[in-house]
Amino acid sequence: MNERDSESLAGFLRQMGYDEAASPDEATILLINTCCVRESAERKILGKLGELRKYKLADPDVIIGIGGCMVQQPGMSERIQKEYPYVDLVYGTHNLHQLPVMIEQCRSGQVVDVWNSEGEVVEDLPDRKVDGIKAHVTIMYGCNNFCSYCIVPYVRGRERSRTPKDIVREVTNLVAQGVKEVTLLGQNVNSYGKDLEPAINFAGLLLEVNKVEGLQRIRFTTSHPKDFDLELIQAMAKAAKVCEHIHLPVQAGSNRILEEMNRGYKREYYIDLIAKIREAMPNVALTTDLIVGFPGESDDDFEDTLDLLEKVRYDNAFTFLYSKRSGTPAAEMDEQISDEVKKSRFQRLLKLQNVISLEHNRALLGTTQEILVEGSSKNNKEMMSGRTRGNKIVVFPGSEEMIGRLINVKIEEARTWTLIGKEI
Ligand code: SAM
Ligand code: SF4
Repeated sequence: MNERDSESLAGFLRQMGYDEAASPDEATILLINTCCVRESAERKILGKLGELRKYKLADPDVIIGIGGCMVQQPGMSERIQKEYPYVDLVYGTHNLHQLPVMIEQCRSGQVVDVWNSEGEVVEDLPDRKVDGIKAHVTIMYGCNNFCSYCIVPYVRGRERSRTPKDIVREVTNLVAQGVKEVTLLGQNVNSYGKDLEPAINFAGLLLEVNKVEGLQRIRFTTSHPKDFDLELIQAMAKAAKVCEHIHLPVQAGSNRILEEMNRGYKREYYIDLIAKIREAMPNVALTTDLIVGFPGESDDDFEDTLDLLEKVRYDNAFTFLYSKRSGTPAAEMDEQISDEVKKSRFQRLLKLQNVISLEHNRALLGTTQEILVEGSSKNNKEMMSGRTRGNKIVVFPGSEEMIGRLINVKIEEARTWTLIGKEI
């Protein structure tokens, strides 16, 4: 979602006549778009902001700006003004569409503009520069869930859906510019449309986007398990362009921790949901997010998470060390877990998941997979890289004219993160 915001910011600047500088030394505007989901991101950003001071010293006309999620937190804009007084522009998540006006204003003095509420969905965002064959399309903003560890609802506001008409128009424009695959974005796509009139749900939206001619693949993220309904599976089966991959963050395997997290489901419900999904779509690839070291997580709770991993057997998992976010209920909970315990649990989780990921990849040996060719491989220009419908990276001999094509590749080698094959 942040990447998508950065594309919009770049689009506004392009509309104003600016272009991308080859390096920060040549830039006349330096903007940092921020994330604050974990403290590590925040620390990096503040370090970066400190580094930018040298550009201001070298040229006082350079504009330095910072905006997005981190700035939207209470007290953060004041902190930036005080500790980084050379920053010209400070804005939040709800007013990035006002960037052109704010840039003009900050020529005559520092601008600090952080809105308290989200306002209406803004539709006239600038065209983005399409780079490659894949694009993200935001279908809704904000989140209503308030998981107890998470800062997102505080900095991104409540759920607001874009209309299907606006989404389909954006996808159609992207396809006209060469995009073959879109990923529909929302913090909880399963609650898409609840605020729209006439009524539509996410399954209905998928069927609409599936009609866009020239589009080859549709992905989406993120689904919340508590709102995942079987109508969505039926829509995935019906809409041929929708890839068989579901990212379904579980966060923890212990019922006690899930409740403390305010996730709204129990592990039994989750495991049953996975069984239903696999029954309807045997080839589905499943991935998840996991947090280790949530306050009060005992050894037994952690064992429950390992056990859930063994039971569900995800294709891949994104594992995070719990990060205390001030203003969230979990930050106030007793029994914060030490870094040492968190890190050792993290390593155990990773080790187990790597074994499972490799097993999934090995099961594909000898099979033929449909690959959308994305570009040349990072390490070897004679090899091309693309993804299966299940979102697995496959590398194979080829050339750049294959980019954007769907090809069939026979899998000949399986590694933990990559598959290697040959076009057939
Ligand atoms: N809305 C999505 C959902 O509920 O699954 C995820 C959005 S969140 C920005 C992405 C992931 O970051 C979450 O799934 C969670 O695992 C992780 N996350 C959020 N807050 C965190 C925190 N305080 N510490 C560690 N990880 C966190
Ligand atoms: Fe955060 Fe939970 Fe909302 Fe996801 S659903 S963005 S984890 S509050």
